[in-house]
Amino acid sequence: MPVTINRDKITDMKKYEKLMQKAKEASEMSYSPFSKFAVGAAVLMGSGKIYTGCNVENSSFGMTICAERCAIFKAISEGEKELLAVAIYSPNQDDCFPCGACRQVMYEFQGEKEVLVITEKDSNLNIKQLSDFLPYGFRI
Ligand SMILES: [Zn+2]
Repeated sequence: MPVTINRDKITDMKKYEKLMQKAKEASEMSYSPFSKFAVGAAVLMGSGKIYTGCNVENSSFGMTICAERCAIFKAISEGEKELLAVAIYSPNQDDCFPCGACRQVMYEFQGEKEVLVITEKDSNLNIKQLSDFLPYGFRI
């Protein structure tokens, strides 16, 4: 049976592959001397711009920030309003899923379209929706 290829989907996949590549590059900037667990994230925002972040640890562990929040806060501080997709990468782990705090931060900036959460397993993109991770996000 022939496979129907949706050209929009191919474009989307290229976009998400690029996002993952940016997350990989960002993971190289990780400051993780304590956990040795490097993480990089790249976020696609409503303007079409991509922002990156890495995890930044601290001797006072509570001051540590995840790569996802680092990237999202950079984007918001530059005037972005809507989060469309987040790619997360760690050289230490396949399917490096976001922690609970980052899931809630993603939810805060979700607009009309549901945020896509992109990880990588066995060199393949794993694309899920934020509601797969956080079905009932908190909003005031
Ligand atoms: Zn996190």
